[in-house]
Amino acid sequence: MHSAVMLLGVLFGLLAQASTLPVKNSTGVYEGKMRLKRKYSDEIRDHEELTAMDQILAVNSKMRAPRGLSFREGDIATSFVRSAINCPGNACLWPKAVDGFVYVPYIMSPLYDDMDRITIETGMEDISSGTCVKFVPRTHEASFLDIQPRYGCWSFLGQTGGSQTLSLQTPGCMWSGVAAHELMHALGFVHEQSRSDRDHYVTIVWKNIMADHMHNFRKQLTNNLNSPYDYSSVMHYGRYAFSEDGGPTIIPKPDPYIPIGQRDGPSALDLHKINVLYNCGTNE
Ligand SMILES: [Zn+2]
Repeated sequence: MHSAVMLLGVLFGLLAQASTLPVKNSTGVYEGKMRLKRKYSDEIRDHEELTAMDQILAVNSKMRAPRGLSFREGDIATSFVRSAINCPGNACLWPKAVDGFVYVPYIMSPLYDDMDRITIETGMEDISSGTCVKFVPRTHEASFLDIQPRYGCWSFLGQTGGSQTLSLQTPGCMWSGVAAHELMHALGFVHEQSRSDRDHYVTIVWKNIMADHMHNFRKQLTNNLNSPYDYSSVMHYGRYAFSEDGGPTIIPKPDPYIPIGQRDGPSALDLHKINVLYNCGTNE
């Protein structure tokens, strides 16, 4: 009797196993269907590989530009009356105080909760701790950042004069690396792969880019501050930015496997570039 029950058990186990075996060739068909449907964000298997810019583009893909504004490169706001991607004569830099620090005043929307505030302040701290730029709550200054949870993650380029909105939607933009990324735009930095010398360091795969987003890959007349190209800049697009069907749009060279972009915050070179742009360490 006992052995009969055991035999039944074994048979049952075998049957159960057989039913879970995959049907031959089914995965190939399935993958083909998936390939048609997937977007660039699906291509990134490991969530840990998402860069700050991947997250920004994911949030901003659902955003419509607010009245009177347009966006370059996915998250740099320009008003129709003012266009200053080149920042002529460094007019868009924040001024340096006599004590050698660059104070960037800000106000923060009361709509943020404590966690949001901590996240944004961490992004500020990550810049301040390695540079002479200090973000300070506004008292009376005429020019300041107005940080608000509008739709999307975006900023103007450099100081615009007067009140300038820097949008960090919650919860989508609530990563300190995303906050640091937008703050760096406000300090005057464009995306790393927009550098005038980028073609020495990356290949732009034009055929993989969504047709109406080609303009987001234009090179800019950047001041490269005698600094090396930085694959790990928090300002670098991810490998699949604006991809049409999941193929890479940016491939590093000569080694295509160099990781590009990240989410943690400003890289050592990002901080170095801020220090060079703002002449940190010298009093003027
Ligand atoms: Zn950006």
